[in-house]
Amino acid sequence: MKQRVDVAVIGAGTAGLSACKEIQKTTNNFVLINHGSYGTTCVLSGCMPTKILGYTANLYHQRQSMAQFGICGTEALTINIKLVLQHVRAMREYFLSNIMDSVEKLRPHLLQGFAHFISPNIVRINNRIIEADKIIIATGSTPIIPQEWHEFNDLILTSNSIFEQEDLPHTIAVIGLSILGVEMAQTLSRIGLNVTAIGADDHIGTLTDPEVNAYAISSFHEEIPLWLGHKATITREGQRLRVTAGDKTVLVDKIFAALGRKPNITHMGLEALGIIKPDGTIDYNPQTMRIKNFPLYIAGDVKHSVLYEADDEGKIAGYNATRAHEMSFKRRIKLRITHTSPEIAVIGKSWAELIPSFIVTGETTFDNQGTARIIAQNKGIIRIYGDKKTGLLLGAELFAPYGDHLAHLLAWVIEMKLTAYDVLKLPFYHPTAEEALRTALHNMASKIVTVKKTSVKAREEEIA
Ligand SMILES: Cc1cc2nc3c(=O)[nH]c(=O)nc-3n(C[C@H](O)[C@H](O)[C@H](O)COP(=O)(O)OP(=O)(O)OC[C@H]3O[C@@H](n4cnc5c(N)ncnc54)[C@H](O)[C@@H]3O)c2cc1C
Repeated sequence: MKQRVDVAVIGAGTAGLSACKEIQKTTNNFVLINHGSYGTTCVLSGCMPTKILGYTANLYHQRQSMAQFGICGTEALTINIKLVLQHVRAMREYFLSNIMDSVEKLRPHLLQGFAHFISPNIVRINNRIIEADKIIIATGSTPIIPQEWHEFNDLILTSNSIFEQEDLPHTIAVIGLSILGVEMAQTLSRIGLNVTAIGADDHIGTLTDPEVNAYAISSFHEEIPLWLGHKATITREGQRLRVTAGDKTVLVDKIFAALGRKPNITHMGLEALGIIKPDGTIDYNPQTMRIKNFPLYIAGDVKHSVLYEADDEGKIAGYNATRAHEMSFKRRIKLRITHTSPEIAVIGKSWAELIPSFIVTGETTFDNQGTARIIAQNKGIIRIYGDKKTGLLLGAELFAPYGDHLAHLLAWVIEMKLTAYDVLKLPFYHPTAEEALRTALHNMASKIVTVKKTSVKAREEEIA
């Protein structure tokens, strides 16, 4: 069977659904092709289940600091992992029903099956041929398990499988300490598993600032054994796995692999069409999402993204796929949050992306910060980067209580192109974690001699 459409969207995840919303503003002649379950990675195995489990873990962990507040008897608290996992799945059902409402509205456009390219304008799904003026590839990504570990698959968990478990093992090695690995290492440890966290690099989360990274590592190390700087190798010992990295070794029941994700672009016929370059990447314009030299667009995690980017990219691709003239869209600044406690975040330009001699840093720690002390979470550091001459805010890295909220405030003021002085004119309520931002910004301002005087004058005028 053959069908001709204006646009075919491949992948009913966040990016694909957002593309469809945009496409519907212009045409009804489109299809949404999806292979596997509906519901999106975010809800089924990504953002939502990790955060539900993380919240439960932090709630249970708080019992350890409650005695100092005069709350007694917490030593009697226990956790039932089977019930915890049931709770995660029940909550997931709730979020799933919202997504399925959106999917249901697209029912006349849905095609279930794996899309395979025959030409840049034609895809085959089972025995159906779809010819489309434009095609949007929004196929997401899959957890990486190295080939040499496949023989241990029965003892390896990933984000695709962990939330489907009835129970969890006593000992586990979390391998890979980027965003997901650090989140899961702390979460699993806080729900009572014996966790060893192993990272091949010397940094965790997405941190690049050596000072923030060192602070975060020493803090996590108090809670979880952290092995950094060596690749892990695995061997089987009976029903368990021996994990070795550098001169350290541990016997575990299972492994949680957080080794990154590979784009879902294999077996789709994209190589034969020359869409995938020899280095395995796809050349696209991030302002239009158009794949160079093809009537194709790309959106979402298939090219590595977080949720707000997948959503934006779906919209951009959907808009451009239905217009005669493409529009270039300004992209939002980068925001990466690791939902640990305290949170880790990289906002705007990271330390590694900036040239130290051109910038000035403003920093503070949370060791003596009022709100951090009140909540007994007085650990953390913020480092904000600004232009050396003007104080224009460029980026920041942090490891801080309420770090997700502080990261948003920083992202917003950086996006609005404010200087440290502009932000210091804004109100800061007391006592709040935001006061730490003010301290860091004052610290930055104190290092910028030229503009400081004008700023003081401006403030005097304002107060007058
Ligand atoms: C464990 C985890 C935690 C995360 N936490 C966060 C977080 O806290 N905050 C945040 O912002 N982001 C987070 N993310 C990232 C976020 O979930 C992704 O950016 C987002 O889900 C990507 O959406 P997508 O539409 O690109 O892909 P998906 O939602 O994966 O959709 C892709 C769809 O395409 C289908 N497909 C694949 N190949 C084909 C084919 N050939 N034919 C037809 N269909 C196909 C797939 O089956 C799937 O249904 C997390 C991700 C993971 C894995």
